[in-house]
Amino acid sequence: MQELESFRKQISTPKKIVITTHHKPDADALGSSLGMANYLKKKGHEVTVITPSDYPSFIAWMKGNEEVLNFEDEKHKEDATKKIEHAEIIMCLDFSALSRTQDMEPLIRNSSAYKVNIDHHQDPEDFADFTYLSTAAAATCELVYDLIVKVGDKFLLDSDIAECLYSGIMTDTGGFRHPNTTKNVHLVTADLIDLGADNSKISRLIYDTNSVDKLKFLGFALSRRLVILPELQTAYFTISKKDLKKYNSQTGDTEGLVNYALSLDGIKIAALFTERKDAIKISFRSTEDVSVNKFAAKFFQGGGHKNASGGKSDLSLEETAEKFEKLIKENKKLLFNQLELVDEK
Ligand code: 5GP
Ligand code: MN
Repeated sequence: MQELESFRKQISTPKKIVITTHHKPDADALGSSLGMANYLKKKGHEVTVITPSDYPSFIAWMKGNEEVLNFEDEKHKEDATKKIEHAEIIMCLDFSALSRTQDMEPLIRNSSAYKVNIDHHQDPEDFADFTYLSTAAAATCELVYDLIVKVGDKFLLDSDIAECLYSGIMTDTGGFRHPNTTKNVHLVTADLIDLGADNSKISRLIYDTNSVDKLKFLGFALSRRLVILPELQTAYFTISKKDLKKYNSQTGDTEGLVNYALSLDGIKIAALFTERKDAIKISFRSTEDVSVNKFAAKFFQGGGHKNASGGKSDLSLEETAEKFEKLIKENKKLLFNQLELVDEK
């Protein structure tokens, strides 16, 4: 409560504010950042949204998108660095370990600005002056809505802010299907629609604007890159750099792929291993009765939510898949939600 008061005081007079989120932002990361930015601008602040990398074109339409600075873009880097150095408030949205901002981490860590962390991930790093965190929230966008209401500024919400926030709630609940789709999610969503969020338009922009390359890549991945281990109730994809190049893969084109593995009847654990620039990026998904976040943290330098986690591996793509299969075999009890994982041999 005391922290909330200090936050309210901080934003009660015009400030220079930087809002940032995690590397390769998704709709919740970008939607919460731009939703918050549009709200703070209405309160008279000078606000800059800086993303640690680029993001998919299917989310690049929200209000304020044109002014977002991409820290990995050489054209933006200098300006973005200055903005962070001069910021009086830095807001970190949809992540709670500063390492997820990659190259921006030292700048944020060394800044003396008042820091705010709004997030719904587990095991947060304690770096902020004001932390607004709930693992019960489906999306950071839901928390941004709650916070604006708590501060007493509900009257400032408008259709632009509502569309940003709706996007993150829609995608982080898997289109209102995952177990995190609570009563509060529906209540908040109803209000966002009431405020002018065009739910059918947003769903079309995010889910139904595939490129031909992306669909062909999906067909290829499903027919050639899916490994199913029925006895372990596990299925996974391995995607190489070459595969990505062949299908002219764009940022965001692999998003959602892992869910096809989880959608198989009888499968409880799904993974996607993608060969990126300097490491293998991993996505884990599980059914409600299985947790994958501790598995991701213990064996793959990651973490996340109970049923949606991620991590990375410095081995080759083939070695990573082998390691994964071995660990799943050794931790078969993971399927029964065992808490203690067996050490890697
Ligand atoms: P995705 O598979 O969509 O990239 O990530 C799913 C979830 O896993 C994210 O919402 C985030 O909670 C978590 N996650 C993904 N990558 C990492 C990572 O490298 N480190 C940690 N700690 N969590 C991650
Ligand atoms: Mn999120």
